[in-house]
Amino acid sequence: MRQKIAAGNWKMNGTAPALTELDALAAGLPATPPLVIVCPPAPLLIPAVDRASGIAIGAQDCHTAPSGAHTGDISAPMIADTGASFVIVGHSERREDHGETDAAVRAKAEAAQAAGLCPIVCIGESLSQRETGETLHVIGAQLAASLPETISAENTVVAYEPIWAIGTGKVPSVAQIAEVHDFIRAELENRYGPDVGAAVSLLYGGSVKPDNAAAIFEVDNVDGALVGGASLKAGDFLPIIAALA
Ligand code: 13P
Repeated sequence: MRQKIAAGNWKMNGTAPALTELDALAAGLPATPPLVIVCPPAPLLIPAVDRASGIAIGAQDCHTAPSGAHTGDISAPMIADTGASFVIVGHSERREDHGETDAAVRAKAEAAQAAGLCPIVCIGESLSQRETGETLHVIGAQLAASLPETISAENTVVAYEPIWAIGTGKVPSVAQIAEVHDFIRAELENRYGPDVGAAVSLLYGGSVKPDNAAAIFEVDNVDGALVGGASLKAGDFLPIIAALA
């Protein structure tokens, strides 16, 4: 049975006062919540782990190496040491701002797994790729090159985030989401076998809001969401979590 997941990516937002949102989230969780993950900026990982109740904590990136001369970077074992259990890898903002290739994303996912973290591996097409009909080709290539050779439902989550839907308020139609998620599921089943392929959770991300979450969660092969802006305030994130419960 695939796990339902509501993951919040705070991106580069939030200082210590934002941690009160974790209290509000904990207080407002439904009776049978999905797995809720909050990924705050790195300086908040330790206080977030200390404070979160019923909420898993994740980082937003990790280095490929466990340690070494990489000023400013944070390794997967360091993230694990904070008590966090997830890490986003390959977010399109990392791919764009920091030139991360599929090979780098795969190495980060492997580093995360080796440290006992569950990577949330992000893939997604640009607007021009969608407009020229390349979406499934791009997604297939990103999956092939960004995912480790061995994965399981416990150690890997895949997030489909069309770049043109991130922070724009533009959301693909449910048919477009279904097409890509069905394709990802089939690719995972082909590569990793039907049992693993069927069990890995697939998240949709890109302008998920309280008013569109329920329709997105009805789509086959959508097991949850990776939420940016609407995860910053518990008042926005809780209705999304409730729609998944
Ligand atoms: P928004 O929900 O703000 O569009 O961001 C999505 C995202 O990039 C989550 O990783």
